[in-house]
Amino acid sequence: MVKHSYFFNRALVAEQWHKNVRATVDDNGLFAEIRIDATPQSSDTQLDCVIPTLPNCHSHVFQRCMAGLTEYKTSDNDSFWSWRDLMYQYANQIDAKQLYHIAKYTYSEMLEAGYTSVCEFHYIHRELNDSSNTENMSLALIKAAHEEGIALTLLPVLYTQAHIDGTKLSDLQQRFHLTTDEYIALYKKLEKQLFAQQNMGICFHSLRAVSLEQMQRVLKSLDKGQPIHIHIAEQQAEIEQIQHHTQLRPVEYLYQNFEVNNNWCLVHATHLNQKEIKLIADSKAVVGICPLTEANLGDGVFALPEFLQQKGRLGIGSDSHILINPFQEIQMLEYSQRLHKQQRVIASTANNPHVGTLLWTKAVRGGAQACQLPVNGIQIGQQANWISLDTSHPSLVNLSGEKCLDSIIFADNQIPYQSYLKGEKITPMHQSIKENYKKTLKSLRN
Ligand SMILES: [Zn+2]
Repeated sequence: MVKHSYFFNRALVAEQWHKNVRATVDDNGLFAEIRIDATPQSSDTQLDCVIPTLPNCHSHVFQRCMAGLTEYKTSDNDSFWSWRDLMYQYANQIDAKQLYHIAKYTYSEMLEAGYTSVCEFHYIHRELNDSSNTENMSLALIKAAHEEGIALTLLPVLYTQAHIDGTKLSDLQQRFHLTTDEYIALYKKLEKQLFAQQNMGICFHSLRAVSLEQMQRVLKSLDKGQPIHIHIAEQQAEIEQIQHHTQLRPVEYLYQNFEVNNNWCLVHATHLNQKEIKLIADSKAVVGICPLTEANLGDGVFALPEFLQQKGRLGIGSDSHILINPFQEIQMLEYSQRLHKQQRVIASTANNPHVGTLLWTKAVRGGAQACQLPVNGIQIGQQANWISLDTSHPSLVNLSGEKCLDSIIFADNQIPYQSYLKGEKITPMHQSIKENYKKTLKSLRN
């Protein structure tokens, strides 16, 4: 049954801009039909310029409550590692109820911003005052995502050691700890708690935090072709640790020990050599790039042009949620390259010369692969999610679709836009979600 019908004057359909696109949405909120060069019908809602929403391929939702609070000096040499100490302080104060309120607020922000699905890389397993309970924190995320309507790929994280040499987790990391048996049992329990438009994936924190044997055991017990996510090669210190211990760089070590395929999402992959770039691209795994977080943490610059040249697949994650804005993520991804290479217009090709269109379409496709949910853009059978740009704004006067998208990324982040989920407008966040979030922040910032 057709529930809604729309007519888009121009739209980024699959991977190309088209004019006069008529789209119908069925009862389940999926695209039932998409016609190019169509004529509008009287029942259609007409929109001028439409792009797909972006899947968010990497999130630690609790970190939203500390965004902006670590921008001060703690030593002469602040880095990811000093930021991590501050992040642990927050991680150790949040209970399941507070996590629920943080997630409700942040998922709602994501939806308004144009992310309609999220991969939640979740490692605070043990309830605050009841360490035997490992489910409550995950259930809070499942419930919050379901209530807000964002499609969720829950990624419970295996995190067992502080260092690749087997050093035990510190006191501040105890809430993350599960044995391999506990992890497998939790995974199986949580699978039964999912709602429609939710799925789960296997997740290893990093090669530092989990042993090869543990990874092999988990994959043997649970791998049925679902997503598999891991942080990799984010920090130079991590590369040195792995190299010292294994004589291999992290990506080489991963590929030597596992059959990495298109189920895998390698988060960050910031520091790669040519051989590693080719390994990842050839395996069809997605690299989950988090440009604003990586910039905020001083991680380094991803080898984007080299990776694109090898036909590598990428997704975008808002990770620490220092900002929740997919357009600014894309801007940072391209600008970091320009500063690094002292060139302009890095992420484009002769066939696809517009940076905005090229990166946006790649991030939609790669993000959909990383979450394995039907969020692969404006295509039949996919969720009817899109962003409608307000082309009455002065910055968009008389521009093509390609130039509208470039403009909202690079020229004017005040251009209004409206996100749609399953064929309907996403409404502004409910006041009660804001109030509960504020109450949570007040108690955390006491
Ligand atoms: Zn992360």
